[in-house]
Amino acid sequence: MSDSTEADADADEAATLRTPIVAVLGHVDHGKTTLLDKIRGSAVSEGEAGAITQHIGATAVPLSTISEMAGELVDPTDFDLPGLLYIDTPGHHSFSTLRSRGGALADIAVLVVDVNDGFQPQTEEAVDILKRTQTPFIVAANKVDTVPGWNPNEGVPIQESMEQQSERVQGDLNERLYGIIGELSDHDFAADMYWRVQNFQNNVGVVPVSAMTGEGVPDLLTVLMGLSQRYMKDEMQIDVEGPGAGTVLEVKEAQGFGTTVDAVLYDGTIREDDEIVVGGLEAPITTDVRALLQPKPLEEIRTDQAFEKVPEVSAAAGVKIAAPDLDDAMAGAPIRVVRNRDRGRVIADVEEELAEIEVTTEEQGVVVKADTLGSLEAIASTLDEVDIPIVRAEVGDVAPRDVRVAETAEEEKHEVLLAFSVDVLDDAKRLAEQEGVRIFEHDVIYRLVEEYEEYVEEMERAQQ
Ligand code: GDP
Repeated sequence: MSDSTEADADADEAATLRTPIVAVLGHVDHGKTTLLDKIRGSAVSEGEAGAITQHIGATAVPLSTISEMAGELVDPTDFDLPGLLYIDTPGHHSFSTLRSRGGALADIAVLVVDVNDGFQPQTEEAVDILKRTQTPFIVAANKVDTVPGWNPNEGVPIQESMEQQSERVQGDLNERLYGIIGELSDHDFAADMYWRVQNFQNNVGVVPVSAMTGEGVPDLLTVLMGLSQRYMKDEMQIDVEGPGAGTVLEVKEAQGFGTTVDAVLYDGTIREDDEIVVGGLEAPITTDVRALLQPKPLEEIRTDQAFEKVPEVSAAAGVKIAAPDLDDAMAGAPIRVVRNRDRGRVIADVEEELAEIEVTTEEQGVVVKADTLGSLEAIASTLDEVDIPIVRAEVGDVAPRDVRVAETAEEEKHEVLLAFSVDVLDDAKRLAEQEGVRIFEHDVIYRLVEEYEEYVEEMERAQQ
């Protein structure tokens, strides 16, 4: 009797707590990719190569590996979360839907800020997204190796006393770190150096790191792990056997499989042949899983067979899903397994979630087209901040019908199309020239908005 209770308790614990999903955000060139590579690389060089697993679009670093990297900092018996799952596609636009209701692309984020550059436009964008989605985050103040005032230290920094820590950051570096703390506080975040932060729920910890040399990376992982364990355990409770729930990261062609979606699964299990509902451009798509794919171990990869078919995948993990009819699937949209549930209910749920990330539009304004729902939402919120109204906002390439909508605007400044990371179809280009509709294209949100603002200013000057 007691045996079975114990076994049940064990099974419960193993089955119900998932890995927190971590997103890495920040301005271009501030070091997101280098940091992710370092985390993967150090984990591998700690001799735990077998333990670290690469998924589609995500890398799982188990607790044992983190504890190995962090030395005495992390006693694995203090934790019951299994580790951390890093989303590998830094700066991915669908991050702006990080925590749309119920659906979580990421539970927690690392904001990478170059200590030489401080806050830059994409840092601002990222902070706005984190604020709006109420995602807890810490700041990796990166490239400390390049700044005078950094005293490299072989030891494990987090173990040091507060004074010792402070001694390691002096002069220029100290000033710059406080600059970052100041910028965070301008955005209403109470921030401080991580060794002084008592409560990471109300305060943002700043961790000095060098993604290049790896200094501070164990501290970063330790803080993330501690933060998750302390404040996120409740949210990590899942029904591992239940129907899978996840978020689409990317929609891609895969040789031999047609259109597939790369997704992050944050609850339950997805199996081959499962019926699934995926958020699509026009409406939810209902289809059946043909195959689930994950990367093969490096040593087994041959160019044409980087993936292996797996019968099932459980949260939290990244997975490539091959199924018919995925052409209209959208990055950032929810994905749900129907299994044993009413299909109509599941479709309604997906619709409701999609509606929540839909962009509200005005009677008059500009037309916006973007590559993903996430980027659409981010652009809409940026335009809203600078009081530029939107008449239509959609995912997809710029087509003639978009030009026709722009063309009917009452004011010349609204006869405009803003295209973010999408193509302008030839027919649309021709029609726009013919009708005098301006199309602005960019793949950086603030540049897109800036170019439009400059255009409006020029136009107003010319009219005076
Ligand atoms: P991302 O655009 O944010 O992904 O930035 P990358 O990871 O591509 O880094 C941009 C550049 O900064 C690359 O040349 C990196 O080698 C360099 N870099 C990144 N982290 C560090 C660091 O900690 N120290 C130094 N010295 N260079 C770094």
